[in-house]
Amino acid sequence: MISAMAKYDHSPVTVADFAIQALVAGLLADAFPEDPLVAEEDAMSLRSAGRAAELHQICDLVGAFLPQATPEATCALIDSGVADPGARFWTLDPIDGTKGFLRGGQFVTSLALLVDGAVEIAALGCPNLGAGCVPDVGGPGVLIVAARGQGAWMTQTEGDSGYKRLRVSRRCDPAQARVLRSFDPEHTNVDEVEEFMHAFGVQEEPVLMESQAKYALLATGRGDLLLRLLSPTQPNYRERIWDQAAGSLVVTEAGGCITDLDGQPLAFDAGSTLAYNRGVLASNGRFHPRALETLRRMKRSPGNRAVSHAVR
Ligand code: AMP
Ligand code: MG
Repeated sequence: MISAMAKYDHSPVTVADFAIQALVAGLLADAFPEDPLVAEEDAMSLRSAGRAAELHQICDLVGAFLPQATPEATCALIDSGVADPGARFWTLDPIDGTKGFLRGGQFVTSLALLVDGAVEIAALGCPNLGAGCVPDVGGPGVLIVAARGQGAWMTQTEGDSGYKRLRVSRRCDPAQARVLRSFDPEHTNVDEVEEFMHAFGVQEEPVLMESQAKYALLATGRGDLLLRLLSPTQPNYRERIWDQAAGSLVVTEAGGCITDLDGQPLAFDAGSTLAYNRGVLASNGRFHPRALETLRRMKRSPGNRAVSHAVR
C-alpha cells in the first residue's frame, strides 16, 4: 500500500512520483547530457528530517536500476528537473494522475521533448491501460510513443506485440460523441461540461478519467472529444506543460486536433505553464469546429468565457 504525502498546494505525492523522476532524470542525463529537464517534482520536502523513511524507500526503488542511489545523489537527480525551459528541453510528469494511482484508476508517466516551442517526441507510459487502450487495472500496461511527422504508436509492455499505429475515431454524429473529462471535479467545471454536452447534442455518458490516459483513449478512437474547462474555484489556472505536451503530440500524430477553448494552438514557448492558453479542447478533428462554436455560444463562467482579443 502506497501512502501519500501532501505538497504545498495540498495535492498528493508518493514515493513512486519521486522515484520515477529520479530514474528518468538519471537516464536522460546519460543519454542527453546537454538537455535540461523541466519536471513536476522537487526534493525540497524530502531533504527534511521527517522524510527520512520515504527517502530511504525512494533510494531503494531507484537503486534497483541506477548504481549509487545514495540519498544525496537521488535528491540531486530529482532536483535536476527544476531547470528553466529553454530552446530545447524535456518535460516530465513522473506520475500524471497521482490521485488515480492512489485509488486504482488511471495514471501515466509522461515525457516530451520540446524544441523551439514545438513538441517533437512524446511518450506516455500507461500501466493501467491494456490492448486497444481498454482500462486494465493491474495489467502489464501499454506504452505510447509519437514523433512529429511520424505518427503515434502503441505497444504492450509485455510480450512481443510490436507497435500499432494509432488513429483517432471517424465519428461525426454529435449524438454519438464520447466526451472525456477529468475524474476530479476540482480540475474542471462539471456543470459547464454538462451544459456543453447538452448544447452539442451528445447522448452518450461522459468518460471520467484521471491523467493524460484520456489523450491515449482519444488517439485510439475510444473517445472523441476531451474538454478541460476551468474550474469555478480556480478560473485563472493555467495548464502545466508536463500535463499537456506528450498528450498533445500523441493526439495530433493520431490525426486529431488540440487547441485551447478559444481555438488557439497550445503555446509551449511560454515557460512551464501554458500561460497564453485557457483550458484545452482536444478532438478527433471532425468535431473540432462545431465544439469551438458550441463553446463560443455558451454563457460560460469567467474563467471559461470566450475572449475576443488575442491573449498574447
Ligand atoms: P486530471 O487527471 O485530468 O484531473 O488532470 C491532472 C492534472 O491536473 C494534475 O497533474 C494537475 O497538475 C492538474 N491540475 C491541478 N489543479 C488543476 C486545476 N485547478 N485545473 C485543472 N488542472 C489542474
Ligand atoms: Mg500531472
